[in-house]
Amino acid sequence: MIKFNDILEGWSNAARDVVGVLDQKKKALSLARLEKCNKCPLQSGLICDPRKTYMDMNGCGCVLVPKSLVNSNECPLRETKYGWSK
Ligand code: SF4
Repeated sequence: MIKFNDILEGWSNAARDVVGVLDQKKKALSLARLEKCNKCPLQSGLICDPRKTYMDMNGCGCVLVPKSLVNSNECPLRETKYGWSK
């Protein structure tokens, strides 16, 4: 389930990154997560695609860059070889 606070946090961090004031630990975590997303069968461009399915799981519909910038966020495939965890 997508939480409003997570959306706000993710886009706020994305804006911080654009202006160069994002915490470097968050940036590193985001890059590691996005590297996994780039190999994931549920990815469609910038989105975790809810129309795609892998092992009976669908994408969450989130935009990946802000999603990757929320420390507490969960990946739908976190239990598989493709996903990432908190
Ligand atoms: S399921 Fe996880 S790894 Fe795959 S695109 Fe979505 S967030 Fe990224």
